Amino acid sequence: MTTVRTRIAPSPTGDPHVGTAYIALFNLCFARQHGGEFILRIEDTDQVRSTRESEQQIYDALRWLGIEWNEGPDVGGPYGPYRQSERGEIYRKYALELVEKGHAFYCFCTPEELDQMRAEQMARGETPRYDGRGLLLSDEEVQRRLAAGEPHVIRMKVPSEGVCVVPDMLRGDVEIPWDRMDMQVLMKTDGLPTYFLANVVDDHLMKITHVLRGEEWLPSAPKLILLYEYFGWEKPQLCYMPLLRNPDKSKLSKRKNPTSITFYERMGFLPQAMLNYLGRMGWSMPDEREKFTLEEMIEHFDVQRVSLGGPIFDLEKLSWLNGQWMRDLSVEEFAAGVQKWAFNSDYLMKIAPHVQGRVETFSQIAPLASFFFAGGVQPDEALFAHKKLSDDQVRQLMQLILWKLEALRQWEKERITGCIQAVVEHLELKLRDAMPLMFAAVTGQASSVSVLDAMEILGPDLTRYRLRQAIELLGGVSKKENKEWEKLLASIG
Ligand code: GLU
Repeated sequence: MTTVRTRIAPSPTGDPHVGTAYIALFNLCFARQHGGEFILRIEDTDQVRSTRESEQQIYDALRWLGIEWNEGPDVGGPYGPYRQSERGEIYRKYALELVEKGHAFYCFCTPEELDQMRAEQMARGETPRYDGRGLLLSDEEVQRRLAAGEPHVIRMKVPSEGVCVVPDMLRGDVEIPWDRMDMQVLMKTDGLPTYFLANVVDDHLMKITHVLRGEEWLPSAPKLILLYEYFGWEKPQLCYMPLLRNPDKSKLSKRKNPTSITFYERMGFLPQAMLNYLGRMGWSMPDEREKFTLEEMIEHFDVQRVSLGGPIFDLEKLSWLNGQWMRDLSVEEFAAGVQKWAFNSDYLMKIAPHVQGRVETFSQIAPLASFFFAGGVQPDEALFAHKKLSDDQVRQLMQLILWKLEALRQWEKERITGCIQAVVEHLELKLRDAMPLMFAAVTGQASSVSVLDAMEILGPDLTRYRLRQAIELLGGVSKKENKEWEKLLASIG
């Protein structure tokens, strides 16, 4: 019998997302329940957006939750490398194989040519789509242009009519018309593969038997299925998991709900409770009990119990469940948990240098620095009164800084300052116009340690959360403002 092998394949392009943990959990349960293996692969073919910091955060966040993998970039394994950026040669070989077999072809179109093609199609009222012009080139011409070193991509051929049947473990057969599929690029001009090629090649070579992935990938499933057919490979069983949603049913997004796992860690949630809550997303125990451990979930796991109605990720419900877990801890476990959370020597060593010179007794520490041990803070609205700026300008300044900080990947004091600096300069203001606002939002107090140090120590999740809360306190951002300010943001260097 073949061993069940599942995987998650996150792209390291941002904060470790709760959606990644959710999909990881279900893949882990499925594999363990069948005595199989669970693999972690890093899909970092987007060279511009992928970072090693983000990769490390994914490992840390999953481990914090208690999710372990059998094979992966950091633990090795027999089917490595497990990082796609290290597998370039493999993809090139398979892309060429598809060209040789006549399933893929070279395309030398420039971005301008493709833009023009799409514009013409739209003017004719058609859906913009690659029209297959690369297929018209003769072999000689292709060879000549390749030899001349012209930039090119490799695209896959797709049928123009009929339907593709996607066998989904949850929905049964899903039919998707071929005319919705474009002649997908498989190898980009930079010689790197796209998701489609790399994903299929790796799942095959890594002997993945079941793929549980988010349902946002269902519409493009035909391209993956066709690639398996082109290669003559057996495809894994496919399972498209329902998307996590905000309480208003929209797709879970950080605008409405914090989506980073590290946020929940910094807010003082218990990893067991968090994992338990993710297990409740679209799934239930046979006896419907709400509180269960990972081991219990694995023991009773049945993927057929996943329900397709969009599961709602609700912070209040999560907090309630966390409270259940908190109360069931022994006092010793509870105390150990608090210590690990923020009363550990690493964290205290970060805070101590900024506090030491400002107190005469230890007992003065708490009033001065309690915000380091809190999730949100409650600043007085009066702290945001500005000598120079109107209330609207204050909100605008804070929102622009927040956006800048949301894009910041390396959370260091100099870079944080750089973000604030860039915004104030663009608005022809001074750093000192912005700092008191940052101070009030982040510390919630009228005075304390330096706010830049505080931001660095608190980390991106809590800092951004507090800025967001302060903006809400001041009235939030209307749709119209959001649009206008985003434009403004784009012009800030
Ligand atoms: N790299 C993809 C992602 O980031 C993987 C999707 C899949 O599981 O195939 O979600």
